[in-house]
Amino acid sequence: MAEEAPFELALGAATVWFGAARGKYPQGNSLTVRGAEESLVIDPSLGLLPRRSGFPRVDRVLNSHCHEDHVAGNHLFPDVPWHVHEADLPGLQSFAGFMAIFGYDDPQVSAGWARLVRERFHYVERPDAIAFRDGDVFELGGDVRVRVIHTPGHTRGHSALFVEPEAILYLGDIDLSSFGPYYGDAWSDLEDFEKSLAAVRKIEARHYATFHHIGVVDRRTFLERLDRFVAVIADRERRLLAFLAEAPRTLDEVAAHRFVYRPSDPVPFAAPVERRSMGQHVARLVRQGRVRELEPGRFQADVV
Ligand SMILES: [Zn+2]
Repeated sequence: MAEEAPFELALGAATVWFGAARGKYPQGNSLTVRGAEESLVIDPSLGLLPRRSGFPRVDRVLNSHCHEDHVAGNHLFPDVPWHVHEADLPGLQSFAGFMAIFGYDDPQVSAGWARLVRERFHYVERPDAIAFRDGDVFELGGDVRVRVIHTPGHTRGHSALFVEPEAILYLGDIDLSSFGPYYGDAWSDLEDFEKSLAAVRKIEARHYATFHHIGVVDRRTFLERLDRFVAVIADRERRLLAFLAEAPRTLDEVAAHRFVYRPSDPVPFAAPVERRSMGQHVARLVRQGRVRELEPGRFQADVV
């Protein structure tokens, strides 16, 4: 089947620029917002590269967080300020800061990732990138504005952006996908992610937009998708508990079993991501007394 061509969706002052394949990774969906005085682009994706000649002028770039696919088109806007939440700012300011977000210990994995980020995602440093914080508002003129809502967990600085007057909630990588929440990097945090999921549920918007897959949905569909998205966390934990009830396991064994990715998924970074994601579940279960650490690094759950 031929790949769906990139297309756009106009929502008043905002336009969603869908990437190829509806923004399936490594592609993504970007947003422009145009006011009477200023305009900005949120999360310039790889999907903007083939559109660069006809792309409207913007006055600033906002990144929902500092991950490779969300900054892949930043370099198309070298002359305007780039903004990201203060907690992710080091990732835009320097390549070392960017690499720290992922925290790959294995030098070979790290070197391969560094190459990919520069070559395929066009990463460029921006030492003068500017921090935003929860509650900051970008006034674009008239009644058009973009408000920052800090939603950490996916990364430390991950933020949703609320566009007025259209009442669009741009959710970045709270992407409502069947894969579920991703909290497998050094700067990810499972419990922060859970709090952010509870917080976005309460935000009334007319449209909900994500960077990947789902595109733009209404509140009813958002709530349905969000329920399924949240349920993936409990499903991972339930499968982990069953695995730890069978026999004592190390975190390496947990990682090799795969709870986040399917065993057949050819993911080069599966081991560290599985270890980090499921390690947070193990730590929580130990704190709750549902899993015991029999000896350092070996964990077992009571038979359920
Ligand atoms: Zn991300």
